[in-house]
Amino acid sequence: MVSREVQAHDTVVRFGNAAVGGDKFAVIAGPCSVESEEQLLSVAEMVKKHGAVALRGGAYKPRTSPYDFQGMGVEGLKLLKQANEQLGIPTVSEVMEVSQMDSMCEYIDCLQIGARNMQNYALLKAVGESNKPVLLKRGLSATIEELLLAAEYIYDAGNPNIILCERGIRTYETATRNTLDLNAVAYLKQRTHLPVVVDPSHGTGVRELVIPLSRAAAAVGADGIIVESHLNPCEALSDGHQALTGPMFEQLMQELKPFVEAA
Ligand code: PEP
Ligand code: MN
Repeated sequence: MVSREVQAHDTVVRFGNAAVGGDKFAVIAGPCSVESEEQLLSVAEMVKKHGAVALRGGAYKPRTSPYDFQGMGVEGLKLLKQANEQLGIPTVSEVMEVSQMDSMCEYIDCLQIGARNMQNYALLKAVGESNKPVLLKRGLSATIEELLLAAEYIYDAGNPNIILCERGIRTYETATRNTLDLNAVAYLKQRTHLPVVVDPSHGTGVRELVIPLSRAAAAVGADGIIVESHLNPCEALSDGHQALTGPMFEQLMQELKPFVEAA
């Protein structure tokens, strides 16, 4: 169902006033984790001012170590709703388990399935049965075919509003956190009608590489990016080393202007 052979025209996924897919390059931005009211609202205001169409922020965090910050939970979801109401910017946040679905649907506009859950079939079915758009991230070591089949689960459960996300894969390379697979973006754009976004933050793990890889994503034909930003990355509770500072985010948007404003 997600194949171009079934539907030739591009799917455009809409939530709030954001549209992902189609002519304009969409920038979704915000912190890795929601940390406090002041942290979230200040970064939300900054990314909105420079042209982000949606705010990202994790309230339930899948952390490699159980001793690291695990997210604010439902309090974080409420802060995202507050940002949405105060600034009029729609939100994207990760759902980690089926039991979180009710609160996610109450507070959040677009449900993110994280890389570690790309093949959590119960969760794919649950978001497929919801009426919220889904941002589906590629698994850490998933093939493109496996990503498409995961999207098929969501589609088959009744939800056609799916955004695919290339966020880097595990390779032998250790200089960067992951290896951003831009082949996958070009390939997916030919194979499927679903919009494809790139996550250069997790794709590289290095703040200084986020802007160049964002330009590359736009050049290769991605429909947008989802990027981490923090006003004080040194103090961030997760992924601070890959978060764009305010001035870097402004520079990113400046460099992407021809794509963001394309008619
Ligand atoms: C995130 O978006 O903060 C995240 C945990 O991403 P991924 O699932 O791609 O690792
Ligand atoms: Mn992160």
